[in-house]
Amino acid sequence: MIDLLSMDQQNMVDFLTEAGFPSFRGKQVYQWCHVKEVFDFEQMTNLPRDLREYLRANASFCRGELLAQQKSDDGKTVKFLLSFHGDLIETVLMCYDRMKARDRHTLCVSTQVGCGMGCKFCATGQSGLKRNLTCGEIVDQVNFANQYLRERGEEPVSNIVYMGMGEPLQNYDALLKSVRILNHAKKIGMRRVTISTCGLIHEIDRLASEKLQLTLAVSLHGANQNLRASLMPIARQNPLNDLMRSLEHYIALTGRRVTLEYAMFQKINDSLKDADDLIRLIDGGCFHVNLVPGNLVEGTNLFRSDEKRIRAFMNKLESNGISVTIRESKGKDIEGACGQLRAR
Ligand code: SF4
Repeated sequence: MIDLLSMDQQNMVDFLTEAGFPSFRGKQVYQWCHVKEVFDFEQMTNLPRDLREYLRANASFCRGELLAQQKSDDGKTVKFLLSFHGDLIETVLMCYDRMKARDRHTLCVSTQVGCGMGCKFCATGQSGLKRNLTCGEIVDQVNFANQYLRERGEEPVSNIVYMGMGEPLQNYDALLKSVRILNHAKKIGMRRVTISTCGLIHEIDRLASEKLQLTLAVSLHGANQNLRASLMPIARQNPLNDLMRSLEHYIALTGRRVTLEYAMFQKINDSLKDADDLIRLIDGGCFHVNLVPGNLVEGTNLFRSDEKRIRAFMNKLESNGISVTIRESKGKDIEGACGQLRAR
């Protein structure tokens, strides 16, 4: 059985024309599946009976199963625990206040079951990588969130951040295909898509050549090689200087500013000297720094930086002309850090 959720429009056209159906039938199935989010062939009312029978016999929707759902006290963050063939992943919906005419609903999606990058501060990283998610499994996370929003009479997901479980760029083909489906079928603008990576140089170079208008966010967390490698083992194979060169190349090719994510841990990477290192590293480049108060993860000795140190760090960057924000921490009361619900 072929998984329709992993198919883009051209795939569906090819699949059905090879079976002798006219090409517009592929476009119709694509509309039902990715645009209308209908996953029952019987409800695809404009398809002829023989096509519905062919689809029933040869195709399916590899949908996840919703195992648990947690809502934050303020109701603005919802975490879904989904099972795909028995593998558990998390996806997190964050609702922001009304912006312009449309609510902003951001979905943080996972791209892998577990993660092999081993970042010291991450619950997912402790469990290792089990497998890549398929394109359909990535897209289906949006289907679940949209269903949740629909049932409440709300607007569908408007923004996607690939910041859930896994290293997105390690699952490159499924990632890019899902981006294109979400952009084309679910009308999520490229500029509303953020891909977050721990800094895989080869894959960043590959992504640069696609020249997409999405936002690339790179987890930095340390502004010198030794500090960074102590928090993120992957930095040993992707040294900081080479990474920064790759990012400059990315910016030159795409014309897009790159976001540097900087999780702040008390007395580990949050001193004013660390800020100086970061200023030197950025060296006037086209970067935005996002300071993230680190989440305390059980079993590690890393603690969230206190407010005063974060502010001082931010002021230092700002006074050196660097664009910087502090990320709003959402869903703390529902274990907002990735992997914690799944781990439990
Ligand atoms: S922070 Fe991201 S890249 Fe690092 S281990 Fe966790 S999921 Fe993987």
